[in-house]
Amino acid sequence: MKPVIVVHGGAGVIVKEYEERYRSGVKRAALKGYDLLKQGGSALTAVEEAVVVMEDDSNFNAGYGSVLNEEGEVEMDAIIMDGKNLATGAVSAVRCIANPIKLARLVMEKTDHVLLTANGAALFAKAQGVPEVPGEKLITERSKERWRKNIESNSNPVATQVGLGTVGAVAIDSEGNLACATSTGGISNKMVGRVGDSACVGSGGYADNIVGATSTTGHGESIMKVILARLILYHMEQGKTPEEAADAGLNYMKTKVEGLAGVIVINNSGDWTARFSTKQMTWAAVKEDKLQFGIYHGETQTISVEEALKN
Ligand code: ASP
Repeated sequence: MKPVIVVHGGAGVIVKEYEERYRSGVKRAALKGYDLLKQGGSALTAVEEAVVVMEDDSNFNAGYGSVLNEEGEVEMDAIIMDGKNLATGAVSAVRCIANPIKLARLVMEKTDHVLLTANGAALFAKAQGVPEVPGEKLITERSKERWRKNIESNSNPVATQVGLGTVGAVAIDSEGNLACATSTGGISNKMVGRVGDSACVGSGGYADNIVGATSTTGHGESIMKVILARLILYHMEQGKTPEEAADAGLNYMKTKVEGLAGVIVINNSGDWTARFSTKQMTWAAVKEDKLQFGIYHGETQTISVEEALKN
């Protein structure tokens, strides 16, 4: 099997001046994951490491640069899933760690559980030797400004804002194993303790070697109501292509609960797609040494991996 990786950097409305940063962030993440896959690495490690690249990049709403809750603090959700055996690890409402996706993988590998939350997740992180980062260290000027504006504007940010840089990845490795990973700071000015789709298996992501893998981004409350990631896999089980399945899931979510989202999808043959009902979604994919990426509907730029690595 030829390895393939697809990543996203969130769906929603991206301010023009940030487009280039998002493009270069998703490209770096996809190239990192692809490099690991080419060296014989597993899909699981490729999606984890691709997500780490974006968690460490302050432009994305995950890890460093996460949006803030109503108290002005960072609380993050993440999930990772192995399509080989449906092993899953997730964390929700975690604070003071740089890479929630790594903690999610530890939950998967070192506990009998699927999801650890808040204080329990913090205790587990400590026991595993995960370094604690002061909460303020994860906060950027941009996230503070967005938080302040939301408070002043008196709008309902949870209802109106989607996708300000949640990150995710799906991959297939040379052995035909599939995996997904998703990580987010959630929705700006959310209530303390709010948990979104990104920590929930079947909503923020799903991977099953028999069918495919998906990572989602967008309005979490809507995604959870339709269990978007698993819904898309269901459509693929019924014979739809990744693109048809993605559109069926997104359309259902729009008509049923008026929610907008974006998804990356791959099937067990390595066919993939990046689809969204929002105005934009940043994405990048690498297959057969070709890097493709885009932000707008209908936009696909293509360069060789060799060329991309020179820049
Ligand atoms: N789905 C995320 C959440 O609701 C937000 C996003 O994707 O931007 O927590």
